Amino acid sequence: MPSANSGRVVIVGGGIIGSFCAWSLRQAGFAGSITVVEKDPTYQYSSTALSAASIRTQFGTPTNIQMSLFGAHMFRNIKAVFGEEADIGFQEKGYLILGESDQIAERVAAAEMQCAQGARILALDPDELGVRFPGISFDGVGIGTLGVQHEGWFDAWSLLSTVRRSARQHGVHYVQAAVETLETHHARVASVGLSNGEKIPCDFCILASGALSGRLVASLGIALPVVPKKRTVFCFKTPFRLENFPMLFDSSGIWVRPEGDSYIGGIQPPAEKDADADGDFEPHHELFEELFWPLLATRIPAMEELRLHRAWAGHYEVNTLDHNGVVGAHDELSNLIMATGFSGHGVMHAPAVGRGVAELVTTGEFRSIDMTPLGWGRIRSSTPLFESIVY
Ligand SMILES: Cc1cc2nc3c(=O)[nH]c(=O)nc-3n(C[C@H](O)[C@H](O)[C@H](O)COP(=O)(O)OP(=O)(O)OC[C@H]3O[C@@H](n4cnc5c(N)ncnc54)[C@H](O)[C@@H]3O)c2cc1C
Repeated sequence: MPSANSGRVVIVGGGIIGSFCAWSLRQAGFAGSITVVEKDPTYQYSSTALSAASIRTQFGTPTNIQMSLFGAHMFRNIKAVFGEEADIGFQEKGYLILGESDQIAERVAAAEMQCAQGARILALDPDELGVRFPGISFDGVGIGTLGVQHEGWFDAWSLLSTVRRSARQHGVHYVQAAVETLETHHARVASVGLSNGEKIPCDFCILASGALSGRLVASLGIALPVVPKKRTVFCFKTPFRLENFPMLFDSSGIWVRPEGDSYIGGIQPPAEKDADADGDFEPHHELFEELFWPLLATRIPAMEELRLHRAWAGHYEVNTLDHNGVVGAHDELSNLIMATGFSGHGVMHAPAVGRGVAELVTTGEFRSIDMTPLGWGRIRSSTPLFESIVY
């Protein structure tokens, strides 16, 4: 694909992905104009602001592990990267992912692969788990894999604010408007048309509009299988305390982690309640009593006692082909670069995606992490790169 250190870049969407793309372009020495078009600067419905803001290295796809490792390194060194005022509250307390007896061999193999990529994952049997995590019942558990480094959680809003502020300081221009059209000329995106009637010409157009990305490019006849799926987060208080409580993913499908003096958690809705979300941000309230709480109290009996404080719902940008992000240029519109479809892991991967997109624009290829496996080619040919560890 063509590359440049100057010219005009337009980024559609100013969430964590779009903002990291903009910031990383400047870090890579891109000297041209960078315009981020964001329809809602309050970000009230953006996935970034509504996410659980956690990072794991326990993936089945090596590229995803490399991307997480880069993200964790940046989060740990956030002040060195963005200055002393940067604070995202990174809690490196690990993910504990539980599996049943028939999953032991596959989980051990996955942990070995993850460690070979640079992650630090322990495979623990139920006795070892009981010693490390008193108060959690490991009945029915065959194995737990625990990330002892590079995994945990942070404040996504602070991260977004930090990277936006820095991008602006480096001359990135944020425009408040919705991109309504992508206008093409000679197999390139020539300009984007905005809701305020303006047109912004571009040499590169970066698609970072999250859960709505598939809909936006459908008007160009591009079948990008990225759809919005509603995911609910429950926030509750309980007297249960455990030092070093990790981000816990139970084999039942629930997840839970501490959040300040409270906890947050959730569960994916059953398929019949998981239609594309279409602007619907009403939490799946019924899941709390019907599924989440009973399963939680089975795993942590002390959580029989809890008080639900609030619930919110955000949209996963689900790539229905394979639950992996799409990063790279379109084959026919060579200056349209996709950075979307992260299916629930886009905040942790945003630093790596930003750097990768900046490399593509400025050099025409990935220089650090090879994200070619995440490219458009597999979407075009319907060849999934399945991510086996999906939540
Ligand atoms: C409940 C929940 C929990 C999650 N937990 C995690 C987690 O623990 N860890 C993790 O890494 N990820 C998590 N995610 C996923 C993560 O939030 C997303 O992958 C990530 O935020 C995607 O970033 P984005 O910038 O692409 O999308 P967004 O943050 O949604 O940003 C896209 C932006 O584009 C704007 N936009 C859309 N269309 C247009 C248009 N036409 N014109 C102009 N602007 C437009 C939107 O207003 C929006 O601000 C979670 C998501 C949810 C919903």
